[in-house]
Amino acid sequence: GVPQRSNADILRLRKQLLNPTLSVSYNEPLKIVRGEGVWLYDQHGQPYLDMVNNVCHVGHCHPRVVAAGQAQMARLNTNTRYLHDNIVEYALCLTATLPEPLSVVFLTNSGTEANDLALRLARAHTRARGVIVVDHAYHGHSPSMVELSPYKFNGKGGQGQASHVGVVAMPDVYRGPFREPSEAGRQYGAMLQPAIENLRQQDIATAAFYCESLLGCGGQIVLPEGYLAEAYAKLRAAGGVCLADEVQVGFGRVGEHFWAFERQGVVPDIVTMGKPMGNGHPMGAVVTTPEIAASFVNGMEYFNTFGGNPVSCAIALAVLDVIADEKLQENARRVGGFLLDGLRELQQRHDAIGDVRGCGLFIGVELVRDRAARTPDQPKARAVVEAMKARHVLLSTEGPDDNVLKIKPPIVFSQANAEEFLDKLDQGLRES
Ligand code: PMP
Repeated sequence: GVPQRSNADILRLRKQLLNPTLSVSYNEPLKIVRGEGVWLYDQHGQPYLDMVNNVCHVGHCHPRVVAAGQAQMARLNTNTRYLHDNIVEYALCLTATLPEPLSVVFLTNSGTEANDLALRLARAHTRARGVIVVDHAYHGHSPSMVELSPYKFNGKGGQGQASHVGVVAMPDVYRGPFREPSEAGRQYGAMLQPAIENLRQQDIATAAFYCESLLGCGGQIVLPEGYLAEAYAKLRAAGGVCLADEVQVGFGRVGEHFWAFERQGVVPDIVTMGKPMGNGHPMGAVVTTPEIAASFVNGMEYFNTFGGNPVSCAIALAVLDVIADEKLQENARRVGGFLLDGLRELQQRHDAIGDVRGCGLFIGVELVRDRAARTPDQPKARAVVEAMKARHVLLSTEGPDDNVLKIKPPIVFSQANAEEFLDKLDQGLRES
């Protein structure tokens, strides 16, 4: 077997052999060797409650998902140029979760690949080049997606904004320019118009608007009501197409709906997905309309060696089955609601909690030094993350000021898990 090394040895070998830009979590990194449900275990068998893994969606190493992958791996794994039942069955099951006319599926191996392919589709359909994105967004790690990710291009080492990209403010009712919830959706949505015009002045027509259905890297932000309706109207009037990036938030996490864009009452032209789709097995997808898919047909094949292979599709089918059979979307709604209530109750006792927001099991807790001034408290957020680790709860921080505790556990997260977490967070906040 593989030699079992000490934490210090692994750290040394990572430094010597691996991508030097790769970071590790925590002052004293953890070695995690096993996962089950919402729990991760270190090499000493110590359990940690996982509050951040939105990839192992139906629980770490879910037995049905593992069995589906094992069985198919032992039978056949090949590319998609032979006929196979798994890929068409998956396309049927996936499109059944989406509104019309979202009915054509492209399978990839990651969220980045999905968003990259979506850009090609949008450009082929509109014959335009410009893209509007939301500030602080992250859409992927390829060159074209870094250009669409203010989180990267405006961050350390970033090259700044490319000429074909327009950036609109995050529709953040806690910290942004518009804070009146009943009007904010329309006000932020209207900001697409000047962004489109700004591109037009440089002779760049707008091909697409990329927007996460809840903002992840932006700090776990819930879009105000009416935001996407207004933004989509502006974008479509300019001839562009609207993309919902559901890589983090899709597949039932938001509770009330299977897809987070449904909360906004809109139908995107393109939906991209990834992370939870294969419960940790690398998968992504683009789903679009027959019209947009038809515009992509120009004689050049889109072939993806691994995308949609029989093993990936067996796994993804098992994920959909488990979500349905274990009623996990409903669980996300119920436990997420309980968690939000509990966090709002903690907010009354802890001045450091400036804002609690989210839906289902996608929640942000924004920490501040001064509630009235809303001064971000990044040191406190970091201290809480370490204090929670000492209590065997894994959390992390997010947002432009890195002061938002992000909560997005596997959606098998139970009421008992939520109670344990709230109790420990109460202690962690007091101690930090
Ligand atoms: N879009 C969003 C919203 C994401 O959060 C991520 C990953 N953090 C991506 C796209 C890229 O996905 P991947 O890492 O699978 O390429």
